Amino acid sequence: MRITVLAGGVGASRFLRGLQAAAPDAEITVVGNTGDDITLHGLRVCPDLDTVMYTLGGGINESQGWGRTGETFSIRDELAAYAAGPDWFTLGDRDFATHIVRTQLLNDGHPLSAVTEVLCQRWQPGVRLLPMSDDQIETHVLIDEGDGRRYVHFQEWWVRMHAAVPAQTIVAAGAGEARPAPGVLEAIADADVVLFPPSNPVVSVGTILAVPGIREAVAAKTTVAVSPIIGGAPVRGMADACLTAIGVETSAVAVGAHYGAGLINGWLVDDQDKEAATDPALAGIEVRVLPLYMRDLAATAEIARAALDLAAELSS
Ligand code: GDP
Ligand code: CA
Repeated sequence: MRITVLAGGVGASRFLRGLQAAAPDAEITVVGNTGDDITLHGLRVCPDLDTVMYTLGGGINESQGWGRTGETFSIRDELAAYAAGPDWFTLGDRDFATHIVRTQLLNDGHPLSAVTEVLCQRWQPGVRLLPMSDDQIETHVLIDEGDGRRYVHFQEWWVRMHAAVPAQTIVAAGAGEARPAPGVLEAIADADVVLFPPSNPVVSVGTILAVPGIREAVAAKTTVAVSPIIGGAPVRGMADACLTAIGVETSAVAVGAHYGAGLINGWLVDDQDKEAATDPALAGIEVRVLPLYMRDLAATAEIARAALDLAAELSS
């Protein structure tokens, strides 16, 4: 079986572990969000690709859900001694090595997709990991600071401001002219099923869908999505701030309707949101109700299995 997953960072990575357990023989392609990517200290950092790579490759800081296990922070401390900012985005020493190798290869002219493949030769994540695009796309957030509006990089809004300053708009800067990375459209077209993990619908899945051609390719397939919203709130993180910015209520019904029957065929919601099963806003989408907390690997594999079962039902 061939499965293609549109992935953000932490939520996606946990789900992917469950998917690997539920479908050990499947060929899984992960199309990763690169809208969170940022250049820091001259190095290109790809947080979502790295979270998937480290999680599936056994190098993740398990309690944090991102970053390397067993990190030390000598480089951060040395940079601080030079007052070399920004001071709001911390990179560990081990993580720095990834960004150095990536940046060297990019500077030598290799596209991000090829560079990601090289990095994955070390980590062996057990999936094919593709960036959504080799072209630079960055999520920017329009904020109002009282004395005027300005765009900031998504990471500045998310990490420095903890998304506490209301976002007026969220844009995928550069997406209009970007092309999907080699293999992305083929991986979607050739898939038996496309899955959306419980990733941020705006700045993870939404950004991937903003790359020209990807939305249409997904719409042509049997697609099942997992709600990242349980009982009217994101499970971890601040996805509600992103949804508010695009005028979507933070609820399983509203997010399912935002994806829409033209894009997804199946929608998994948590027991707490069981009224979604009969909500007219989700007409045309098959809704299934089950526990969606990715508590441990077994619980997460159950969610993945339910997504695959629903997809099989919908495509038969
Ligand atoms: P990020 O790029 O690291 O923010 O990660 P993603 O976009 O992949 O995932 C973030 C989303 O995962 C958040 O909106 C959370 O609500 C969702 N999430 C995290 N843990 C769980 C969980 O246990 N169950 C469900 N259903 N969603 C979760
Ligand atoms: Ca992310």
